[in-house]
Amino acid sequence: MKTKQSLCGLDAFRLAAAFLVIAIHTSPLAGFHGNADFFLTRILARVAVPFFLMITGQFIVADFFDNADHTISRDTSKKLGQNANSSTKLKLKKYLSKICLLYMAAILIYLPIGIYSGLYHFQTAYDGFRMLIFDGTFYHLWYFPACIIGILIVYLLSRFLSLPVIAAISFILYIFGLFGDSYYGLTYDIPAVKEMYDYMFMAFSYTRNGIFFAPVFLVLGAVIGRQVHTDSRLSAIGFCLSFMAMTIEGFMLHIHHMQRHDSMYIMLIPTMYFLYRLLLDVKRRTGNMEYRSSLQSHIGQSVNIRQVTTWIYVIHPAMIIVVRAVGKLLNQTELFVSNSLVHYIAVSLLSLISAYVIAYICRKLMKPKMNRRIHRAFDHTFGKSPTPTNRAWIELDMVALQKNVHFLQSKLPEGSVLMPAVKADAYGHGAVLISRELNRLGINHFCVACADEGVELRRNGVKGEILILGYTHPDAFPILERYKLTQTVIDYAYACQLNNYGRKLHVHIGIDTGMHRLGTRSENIDDIISIFHMRGLIIDGMYTHLSVSDSLFPRAKAFTRKQADCFYETIDRLKASGYKVPKIHLQASYGLLNYPELGGDYARVGIALYGVLSAKEDTDKYANLLLPVLSLKARVSSVRTLQKDESAGYGMAFTAVKETKIATLSIGYADGLPRNLSNGVGSVLINGHKAKIAGRICMDQTIIDVTDIPYVASGDIVTIIGTSGNEMIGVADIAEQTHTITNEVLSRLGSRLVRIVK
Ligand SMILES: *Cc1c(COP(=O)(O)O)cnc(C)c1O
Repeated sequence: MKTKQSLCGLDAFRLAAAFLVIAIHTSPLAGFHGNADFFLTRILARVAVPFFLMITGQFIVADFFDNADHTISRDTSKKLGQNANSSTKLKLKKYLSKICLLYMAAILIYLPIGIYSGLYHFQTAYDGFRMLIFDGTFYHLWYFPACIIGILIVYLLSRFLSLPVIAAISFILYIFGLFGDSYYGLTYDIPAVKEMYDYMFMAFSYTRNGIFFAPVFLVLGAVIGRQVHTDSRLSAIGFCLSFMAMTIEGFMLHIHHMQRHDSMYIMLIPTMYFLYRLLLDVKRRTGNMEYRSSLQSHIGQSVNIRQVTTWIYVIHPAMIIVVRAVGKLLNQTELFVSNSLVHYIAVSLLSLISAYVIAYICRKLMKPKMNRRIHRAFDHTFGKSPTPTNRAWIELDMVALQKNVHFLQSKLPEGSVLMPAVKADAYGHGAVLISRELNRLGINHFCVACADEGVELRRNGVKGEILILGYTHPDAFPILERYKLTQTVIDYAYACQLNNYGRKLHVHIGIDTGMHRLGTRSENIDDIISIFHMRGLIIDGMYTHLSVSDSLFPRAKAFTRKQADCFYETIDRLKASGYKVPKIHLQASYGLLNYPELGGDYARVGIALYGVLSAKEDTDKYANLLLPVLSLKARVSSVRTLQKDESAGYGMAFTAVKETKIATLSIGYADGLPRNLSNGVGSVLINGHKAKIAGRICMDQTIIDVTDIPYVASGDIVTIIGTSGNEMIGVADIAEQTHTITNEVLSRLGSRLVRIVK
């Protein structure tokens, strides 16, 4: 597969970069030709560390600037750009903890060597701090704190500034660092400036650190990662020219004794830019999604090249010592140490072998736990399939979810909190993914429809109160207890069943104020009082449900007010009789939006949280305030041409009136695509164009008419719900076309669809 190959290409360069780093520290050509060695170790090898930083930039830093781009209007997306999505934060935290752990391990490995060679004789406490934070506790370990500090700086800046501004800032920092590094000779001649740099060098020994060096490459990686079109010929020419210029720059500085240190060149930036583009270019053609899939297949392997290169980096200075020691022991110093090339090869081989062994042991030791963790992280980010986007899938925009949460919270009365409805798999979005994200956003109350939904959330670590809105058979009462689920008391008789269970159960009492579906009738105050006396119930809440809060017609308004009055009257009577009233709630999405004054301790918002409302006109009214969380996508499986009068699909329902190009999609009504969209009622988006559904939607496949759309090919992504180019199809459009509400369309989206976080 092409993807795999290109990934290996990137990995191959990692390996090359690791051996270049060893070259820096062993000078393989020093014994043969001074200038050749200078070129190899002080110029060519200087691409290695920036390359590592750029990979981090592409996969970690780029996320800081990713917002909900196309699903949100330009205006809001700009605002959102400053609010990193919480899954970005999670990824960042994971990455930082991983790299901190690695740094700590490396510190420990080099501790004996450092002590032996007297590295840690600090004059002041700051010396220790400087070593830990800037210089590294061994000569190559500066990389880890530099990477951490660089990421943190870019992350903090990304809270306030846009990518171009941050790129400019990190470039300026780099230039600043340059004059303390390769261009120090210029600085040296200006006393005031020299003095300033000398002060800085008390804080850190080199400007090649997390402040002046790392940010620019992290940002560069992020920038290139976001580029869609790159021209590999241009990249190749650009690389050759800038690398040549860098070589000249390096030698000029060297000859004129300008360099205090030799990590930073002006031309290193264009060189890295073109080199990285060149390395990425193969991957580019196959798209990002496949990259993720192959990333996952890598997870399954026992040892991967990434870990090996990381360990080569960490371990090679120790191997230099080992080679020297062995050389001495065997009386072969002449060969193993003095011959710089043999020395280099010996160190490289030994580093490679020991890195492989360490990576293997780490894998074996941590395998069960790590794999579980990696897989869980993967599930969280990409959904539960090894190749989530190969057929038909749902993409979740967690930034939109967060926005919606904040908007709905702004509508809440004082002291009230959200109790999102995540029933029916969070209205088709994926209850676990959504609830976990809500947990992270500080939400700790949920409602579900049935006990099994509650169990699924608990098994996946969702915290807080989970209220079951519907019926649970008494046989399942032990489950309520075991999973700490809260049951609705759906009427008086049911209260007795709950009470007879024998162990205490948490409940909310349902009050029927006019919906006449569930709940004890509000006028039966005696029944309600009896429920309060039941010793087997722990009454945490009491609620009712409004039946016409979506309407603003006078009759509906009056009825809603009457329902609220009945509810509050019941509460007042309980209070008057001396009962302690638990938490109360009566609002769902429409109630909160239309009648915020009705109050309550919780608002059980469902549909609005997902960024739409039940009807199209309401959805449109809130279009700028509520942002759709879900997109539904599938693949084009096949493209073919129909001659005039040929028909396609079941029942010959579509017949070509002229030569017609059709495409088959890998999604059908079993995935929740309403069959009523057949025969041109519905459309999908492909490459920014609308294409009508042709003939009858099948169980697993759908045919569309793409006659007027250029370049449609097998494997193309089609958007069924969501945005493509300037076109957008909302779930509200589909609901309108199929004469139902968005709630139904969403909650019917099938379990065969994979849910992924965008
Ligand atoms: C489904 C449900 C909700 C959520 O309704 P939305 O209109 O989607 O906000 C709230 N309360 C009860 C009792 C429900 O059944």
